[in-house]
Amino acid sequence: MRLKSSVARILPLLAIAPIACDAQIREPRLPPPSIVEYQPRSTLVVPEHRVPRAKFPAVDFHGHPPNLSSPETVAEVVAAMDRLNLQVMVQARPSSGQRLISQIEGVRAAGHEDRFVFFASLDLRNVGPGSGARIAAQLEEDVRAGAVGIGEIGKGFGLSTRKADGSRLEMDDPELDVVWETAGRLGIPVFVHTGDPPEFFEPLDYENERWLEMAIFPNRRFNDRSRFPAFDDLMAERERMIAKHPNTTWVLAHMGWHTQDLGRLGEIFDRYPNVLGEVGAVLYDLGRQPRFGRDFFEKYQDRILFGKDSFRPDEYPYYWRVFETADEYFDYYRDYHAFWKLYGMDLSDEVLRKLYYGNALRIVPRMPTAGFPGG
Ligand SMILES: [Zn+2]
Repeated sequence: MRLKSSVARILPLLAIAPIACDAQIREPRLPPPSIVEYQPRSTLVVPEHRVPRAKFPAVDFHGHPPNLSSPETVAEVVAAMDRLNLQVMVQARPSSGQRLISQIEGVRAAGHEDRFVFFASLDLRNVGPGSGARIAAQLEEDVRAGAVGIGEIGKGFGLSTRKADGSRLEMDDPELDVVWETAGRLGIPVFVHTGDPPEFFEPLDYENERWLEMAIFPNRRFNDRSRFPAFDDLMAERERMIAKHPNTTWVLAHMGWHTQDLGRLGEIFDRYPNVLGEVGAVLYDLGRQPRFGRDFFEKYQDRILFGKDSFRPDEYPYYWRVFETADEYFDYYRDYHAFWKLYGMDLSDEVLRKLYYGNALRIVPRMPTAGFPGG
């Protein structure tokens, strides 16, 4: 594996066609297109089922709508939610103090307090002795003001956030124990994004599945070991944090970045019954393993939450189509995530209901129940 990737790094330098493992592969007689130019049109004709609205009312656990303090913005977001059958959006661009209160008031003023819930932010900058107690006290205040969860805690936590002494803030730093314990006592979930896809931590060579994305976004390259921890080290750190707090509900954003290896995520679910996963921005992986993925969603149906991440209303129907249909070989919405097509997982109604709303209603306190079956 190691040898293979170092060869792949050298090949382009020698201007030899990469992946020449089969002697029958011939050199193109025309100048080959670049990675961005080659856009083959599929000629496959198969049944298509577009799904503009979710089959059941959904909670977007990973909502990143704009700031909701103005009733006009709230009305615009609600109009988009209505078209998609999104019943409740978690404002997972977290806030605290007055910024939190002004959004809760904005939603109420617009008459849509049953369509949004708010998660609190944590100020994790410059952690030092006494920071944990201060952060926990602010959290208690924000929960009194109406917050019903923590997060999304961004990937900076673990990757780059520094302590007051200049060292990297490790996720399992004991100073933060009181914060996670407070979340457990208050019964609110902690929604945490750790790291990024494992390929972002690997050499940027021609075997890297995310070559294009890493080439477009230099700030998504975490493969410099002098600056960033290795993917597995970061995951181990996250696991030590979780292991210390069995009474706290943890939600791993982006399924913990383990969708390319669901078995690994299953082991985490098996070890920690207080851990759930959220599916935002990893549809490209779920849609390329529709059968294994469906088995996984069936087995762990109480542990997976729907979430979208970036708020682009036209992208949600791709999720509905992957989850609800058995369609084959259809396009994904973002080419730099995936060079491949998607397939429908054809999830059962029972699994869909839990994925879309059942699990969110169970783990988030004070969730509005209006608009959901039986609500
Ligand atoms: Zn997010």
